Amino acid sequence: MTTGEMGERPREVLRRVFGYDSFRGEQEAIIDHVVEGGDALVLMPTGGGKSLCYQIPALVRDGVGVVISPLIALMQDQVDALRAVGVRAGFLNSTQDSQQRTEVEKAFVSGHLDLLYLAPERLRVESTIRLLERGNIALFAIDEAHCVSQWGHDFRPDYLLLSSLHERWPTVPRIALTATATKATHAEITSRLNLGNAQHFVASFDRPNIQYRIVTKDSPNQQLIKLLRTEHPGDAGIVYCLSRASVEKTAAFLVGNAIPAVPYHAGLDARTRANNQSRFLREDGLIVVATIAFGMGIDKPDVRFVAHLDLPKSVEGYYQETGRAGRDGLPSTAWLAYGLQDVVQQRRMIDTSEGDAAHRRRLSQHLDAMLALCETVDCRRVQLLDYFGQSSAPCGNCDSCIRPPEKWDGTVAAQKLLSTVSRLQRERGQKFGAGQIIDILLGKRSDKVVQHRHDALTVFGIGTELKEPDWRSVVRQLLAQGVLAVEGDYGTLVLTPTSGEVLGKSRQVMLRREPERGPRSSSASRTSRPTGAAGAIAPSDLNPTAAAAFDRLRAWRAVTAKEQGVPAYVVFHDAALRQIATAAPSTLAQLAKIQGVGETKLARYGQGVIDTLAENA
Ligand code: ADP
Ligand code: ZN
Repeated sequence: MTTGEMGERPREVLRRVFGYDSFRGEQEAIIDHVVEGGDALVLMPTGGGKSLCYQIPALVRDGVGVVISPLIALMQDQVDALRAVGVRAGFLNSTQDSQQRTEVEKAFVSGHLDLLYLAPERLRVESTIRLLERGNIALFAIDEAHCVSQWGHDFRPDYLLLSSLHERWPTVPRIALTATATKATHAEITSRLNLGNAQHFVASFDRPNIQYRIVTKDSPNQQLIKLLRTEHPGDAGIVYCLSRASVEKTAAFLVGNAIPAVPYHAGLDARTRANNQSRFLREDGLIVVATIAFGMGIDKPDVRFVAHLDLPKSVEGYYQETGRAGRDGLPSTAWLAYGLQDVVQQRRMIDTSEGDAAHRRRLSQHLDAMLALCETVDCRRVQLLDYFGQSSAPCGNCDSCIRPPEKWDGTVAAQKLLSTVSRLQRERGQKFGAGQIIDILLGKRSDKVVQHRHDALTVFGIGTELKEPDWRSVVRQLLAQGVLAVEGDYGTLVLTPTSGEVLGKSRQVMLRREPERGPRSSSASRTSRPTGAAGAIAPSDLNPTAAAAFDRLRAWRAVTAKEQGVPAYVVFHDAALRQIATAAPSTLAQLAKIQGVGETKLARYGQGVIDTLAENA
């Protein structure tokens, strides 16, 4: 092994070990700071390149970099990926037998490791602390640092132990990293991990290669399958559902339609779960249908889409989940289908959730922000980035930008709807859900309308200028704007303190009109937007010769990865293979210039790549 060469500078390590020519964004400043022994808190979006921020300092500094990560199931892959570039890495967690553990411990104490991955719960064990005291530690990296925050959505009590690292090893630099960066989370990480004196690096949260789209849910399975068939045939992706039951159903539905998919949720036994995750990482073009239990730390670079079939509970969660698409910088899709039923269901879940009033209020705020994103008439990305405290201009790569929705003055419609709700309550002492209210507005003599004699109300039939789906959209938007509320098991509609302002004509209500649905304008998104990774080549941009070479390289990679028992992307990313296919190098020296081809990969795979390119060339 050749890592940790004396006196090597970060940039040299970047080229020699990882095969990249330049740092991205703030990577270099962060790395320099930690190399000098400073503490750092790094907020960077998923796919932004956080790993190098601690991996390179660990290689440059004397001693072993200790990485705290909650992702036990992924440690093996993380370590394999490092070993593939010649870095000496190991991990300690509960999945190992004592012999494996002893080997790693020996390597750590004798300084034959560059990086050691540890699950946070190991720090509860005194023997781990004693072990760490016997080695020479280059730095502590605290990955997924938002797990220390109770405000967020991934709280892990063991993370609270991490504040003690600083007390025991006051001179060892600490770098905490997360892709979750609202002000509240940022503040909580800072205080709980005692990072008040650390330098804070806040990167741009934009992921320009991801196209954000939010559509009205009518027949979710059909909408999903259309998305997959028209835009993502053969692509790997993640489909998120709220419940275990809908995960199972959706996965079965896809398989029934000859689309390869596996389910993933906490109700599956550990073996099946691990197996499905590993297939997703290893096979090309597999879809995983999952609850949000899936995905943290999954660094598969070629996830081409993330689809949500249910409304996420918070913008933070949504942004993390969608951020798992397109880490390689190539065009990717974040697609969400959402409907009125989602709002009703989530309000009910909040109302019946455990925890105190403050907790429920927090859940409610999260939901409101999510609804506002769904119903915005403006650029989705502007709103998302604004949520993370970053201002930006309309992006050109979201549904709002590609097909701007019309704004219309919905004040009169809102008044009609609110007065129907109000009349039922005042004149009849009744509360009803959206379906009944809309039937009344439309003047529909349904059984339930007749049964309750709602056709005798003065508001009966006053809303025929809109169609049923339009009214549903009005209801959703009024809920999102807090002018209307939903309560109880049946999702009944009720007025709010601000309803009166609309009824009293002192408040105007602007609404979004859904544009007619159609295929995405991919040309706009692919030509006018830069991709995230420098030099990345979009799938559609390969010429026929390069495309054929790319296919051969992919086949070679599949065989190689299988032989070595690692995910395909550990051998080479798609982005690197595309560049190789285009540049068609015929010598190792030429191959070495490609981004992502470092010293070890060149030695290990170089000849295989050259030979594959030479076949029927
Ligand atoms: P994060 O942990 O922030 O989600 P990663 O560390 O997994 O992101 O990096 C995302 C992708 O970007 C990886 O495939 C990585 O190899 C690549 N990458 C990171 N830094 C650079 C760089 N300086 N040049 C080129 N590619 C990079
Ligand atoms: Zn936009």
